Amino acid sequence: MKKKRHIRPERLLVVISAVLFVVCVAYGSFLFVDMKLHQTSNGYETVSASSFMTLGYNEDEARALSELDPELQHTITQYPVNEVNYELAVSEGMNKDNFVRCQDLLAKFSSADAHDLLTMLDKRGTEEADNFFQSDMYYIAANKDRYEKASALFYEEEYSSQAAYIRDIVEYVNCEGDLPDLEDVKDTDLSKDLLILVNKHTSYGQNQPEDLVEIKSSYGGGQIRDDVIDDLYALIDAIRSEDGLDLYVTSPYRSYDTQYDLYYSYLASYGSEWTTLHSAFPGHSEHQTGLALDVVSYPGQALSDFVGTAEAEWLAEHAHEYGFIIRYPQGEEYDTGYTYEPWHLRYVGKNTAEEIYRKGLLFDEYYAFFID
Ligand SMILES: [Zn+2]
Repeated sequence: MKKKRHIRPERLLVVISAVLFVVCVAYGSFLFVDMKLHQTSNGYETVSASSFMTLGYNEDEARALSELDPELQHTITQYPVNEVNYELAVSEGMNKDNFVRCQDLLAKFSSADAHDLLTMLDKRGTEEADNFFQSDMYYIAANKDRYEKASALFYEEEYSSQAAYIRDIVEYVNCEGDLPDLEDVKDTDLSKDLLILVNKHTSYGQNQPEDLVEIKSSYGGGQIRDDVIDDLYALIDAIRSEDGLDLYVTSPYRSYDTQYDLYYSYLASYGSEWTTLHSAFPGHSEHQTGLALDVVSYPGQALSDFVGTAEAEWLAEHAHEYGFIIRYPQGEEYDTGYTYEPWHLRYVGKNTAEEIYRKGLLFDEYYAFFID
């Protein structure tokens, strides 16, 4: 007969204690491993929901944020809660680089909305982003990545339509407005002759036109390229035939040295911010090509006083009929690099001037799309 086994109460306590100990150790290890899983290789610690709440996020926000990648969490904690649209951080496909870029952009463009910027940024490199810009008729494939990058600088809701929004971005990049001024400067292609491009990214160097001729003093004097003179006289005659309108050339051709002195005297008097928008760096002035000139309503008039004159209005409507364009139109300083200059005329010949006027393009973009 088998002896019935009895378990003594003391022994039962030991067993229960042992089991509890094992469970505790296992759970502790699990928590430890779990925590480790929430650390990236960069060593960022997971930020808890309660930490996010102390930063000002509400409970729901804090819970969503606590589930993000620790490195991204770390970034988020660096910025005040009201400047971070946390929904974006948790949205699908959002990556840390974009988030950081957005924060930089927000700092620069306080009117921008984080959602629009990030929505676009997150589509970078996708077919969707590419199609978005290809819908613009002046899309240049080589600029593809730059359109996407530049889009972060534009605030979509300010535009009347998506097409207008895209147009603005494509124009900006085609004009190289997205590139830093005077860096990686290219030499202009002199063979383009009357259509030569000179701007903050393309230099005329120390070249000098060979066919300069004198402008009659009754038209204002100075020098201009021979190809321009007849159309210039015709333009001035035409505007003078209008009741009460008059026009004089001032400061047409300027040499590299003259531009050098002018630029640095502006810089000394007005500082770099003003000078950058109002005067060309030596080698970067259209005046040096002999194809550009400034005009005024009467001799001695300050250029700034030409803004809003009847003559300025007439030129905006008719200059192209004589082969000239208003090179720096109003509201385009981010594209052209210069503030509105209704007095600065650039000669491109009648056909091109007509085309640019009809298409409503800036010369920089026209050049990039049709000439380059
Ligand atoms: Zn000028």
